[in-house]
Amino acid sequence: MLRLTDIKLPLDHAEEALAAAIRARLHVGAPAIRGYSVFRRGYDARKRGAIQLIYTLDVDVTDEAKLLARFAGDPHVRPTPDSEYSYVAKAPAGLEHRPVVIGMGPCGLFAGLVLAQMGFKPIILERGKAVRERTKDTWDLWRKRNLHPESNVQFGEGGAGTFSDGKLYSQISDPRHYGRKVLTEFVKAGAPEEIIYVSKPHIGTFRLVTMVENMRNNIEALGGEVRFEQRVDDLLVETDAQGVRQVRGVMLASGEQIRTDHVVLALGHSARDTVEVLHKRGVYLEAKPFSIGFRVEHPQSLIDRDRFGSQAGHPLLGAADYKLVHHCRNGRSVYSFCMCPGGTVVAATSEPGRVVTNGMSQYSRNERNANAAIVVGIEPSDFVPYDDSGSPLAGIALQRQLESRAFELGGGTYDAPGQLIGDFLAGRASTAFGEVQPSYKPGVHLTDLSSALPDYAIEAIREAMPAFDRKIKGFARPDAIFTGVETRTSSPVRIRRNDDDLQSLNTRGLFPAGEGAGYAGGILSAGVDGIRVAEAVALSITQQEVHA
Ligand code: FAD
Repeated sequence: MLRLTDIKLPLDHAEEALAAAIRARLHVGAPAIRGYSVFRRGYDARKRGAIQLIYTLDVDVTDEAKLLARFAGDPHVRPTPDSEYSYVAKAPAGLEHRPVVIGMGPCGLFAGLVLAQMGFKPIILERGKAVRERTKDTWDLWRKRNLHPESNVQFGEGGAGTFSDGKLYSQISDPRHYGRKVLTEFVKAGAPEEIIYVSKPHIGTFRLVTMVENMRNNIEALGGEVRFEQRVDDLLVETDAQGVRQVRGVMLASGEQIRTDHVVLALGHSARDTVEVLHKRGVYLEAKPFSIGFRVEHPQSLIDRDRFGSQAGHPLLGAADYKLVHHCRNGRSVYSFCMCPGGTVVAATSEPGRVVTNGMSQYSRNERNANAAIVVGIEPSDFVPYDDSGSPLAGIALQRQLESRAFELGGGTYDAPGQLIGDFLAGRASTAFGEVQPSYKPGVHLTDLSSALPDYAIEAIREAMPAFDRKIKGFARPDAIFTGVETRTSSPVRIRRNDDDLQSLNTRGLFPAGEGAGYAGGILSAGVDGIRVAEAVALSITQQEVHA
C-alpha cells in the first residue's frame, strides 16, 4: 500500500476527481490502481476565495515496488506505515492482585480498556456517578444552581471531557499510532466514522455520553470492574529496608481497602483533595505552569465569514474555528484555547462557592455563538503571592482564590461574572448586553472583570484583544462578551514519573497518567497516555511473573 500526501483538490470536487488525482500523481493508468481509501482529509483556508481540500490517501497499486523506486526521493509517496495496534502483553493465569485504575476520564477509560483487552481484569474506581446520573447532576447546577461536589462537569464517568466539544486532535508526537487506536475504539463505541480521517475531528457532548457507556460495557464484558461513587481517599504505601516505596493498595472514602501492587493515577486536573493526600503521602510532585483568563463569545457567523468568506456554511467545512496567539510587551503570552465553534460556555466548577468557565458543543455545532478561552500563561513563580510556603500545590491556592473571586464578582449565585469587550478595554463596568447574548448557565452577572485576575494578566489580555482583532475582524467588537474565570486549563502540578517504566519517581507501582499528572492535555492525548500506561502496567506485571 502506498501513502500519498498533500493531494489538493477544490472544495466542491467530484468523487471521481480523487482517482484522477491519484493517477496523475503516480503517472499511471487506471489498471495500475486496485483501490484507495482516505487516511486524512483537511483543508487549507488561507485563501478564502479558493479553499482547497488536502488529502492523505492510501492507495493499493499493482506494482508497489516499481512505483516506490520511481518516487524514491519524493516525500509525498511513501509506503503506508503499519498503524494497527498490537498488544504488548497478555495477563498470566491466576493473577493475584488486579491492577487498579483511579478515575474514568479518557485516560482511565483507555488504561482500563486496554488492560481489560490484555486480560488483566482491572478495577476502575470513579468518585463520580455513572454518566446518565451525572448528566442530571451537572444540569442541576446549570439550571437550578445546585452544585454536586462529587458529580459535575469534572467528576463522573467519562471525566472532564464528557460535556465538551469533543475535539479529538492533538499535537503530541505519536510514533506508535496510539491516537488511531483511541479513534478506532471511539468509532466502535458509536462515534461517527469520519473522526478517523478528518483532520479536526470532534464528537460533541450528546454522542460522548452514549460512547462512554458502550466502552464501560466493553470493559465489563472483558472481565474488568467499574465502580462509581468510590472515591480513593488514600494510598497504601510500604517502604522496605532500602527505603524503596511500593504501592500496596488504595483506601476508599467508605473505608474499604483494595489490595494491589499496580495503581494507575488518572485523576484529572480537578482532584485537588486527592493531590493533597498524595503530597502528604510523600509522592513526588512539582508545581507546573498553566494558564488563566476568560472565555470569550462572538457570533459564530463572524468567525465563519472571516475564515471561509463566501464558502461559510459549506458542509465539508462546518463551523469555523480559530487559534490565536499574541506575545505582549510585559513578557506574557496570550492565546486562545479550547475553542468551541457553535457551542456554549459552561459552568465547570467542582467546588462550592467557586466559579469556573469552560466550553462545550454538540456534534452539529450549530449554536449561535463561538466561544474560546483567552488565557495568559503563568509560571510557578506567579503562584508565590497566593502561597509562599514553597509547596508544589501553590498553583491550586492561586486557582482557588481566583475561582472564589469570580463567584463573588458573579453575585454569589453561581452566575459567572461577565463584561463586554468594549467596556473591558475601556476599563468600565458593563451594565447591558449588546447583540451578543451570553450562553453560560445559570446566568451572567455584568460587572468589571479587572479585579478577577492578577494585573499582569488583565494588562496582557487588554493588549492582545486589539491584536486579535487585526487577525479576525470584529474579534474585539464592543459587544463580544468575556465571562470568567478560566483556571482549569491544565493541571497546576506534575506528578513526575520515570520515562522508561512510567512509574512515579519515588513510589513503585504508582503510574501517574493523563492530564492531572501533567502528561496530557485534551481528550485524545489523555486517551493515548492511558494506553501507554496500560502497557507499562502490563509489562511490569508480566516481568514480575517472569522473575518470580
Ligand atoms: P479527567 O477527564 O479529568 O478524568 C479524571 C477522573 O478521575 C474524573 O472522572 C474524576 O471524577 C476521577 N477522580 C478524581 N479523583 C478521584 C479519586 N480520588 N477517586 C476516584 N476517582 C477520582 N479536551 C479536548 O481534547 N477536546 C475538547 O473539546 C475538550 N473540551 C472540554 C470541555 C470541558 C467543559 C472540560 C471540563 C474539558 C474539556 N477538555 C477537552 C479537556 C479534557 O476533558 C481533558 O483534557 C481530559 O478529560 C483529561 O482526561 P483525564 O482522563 O486525564 O482526566
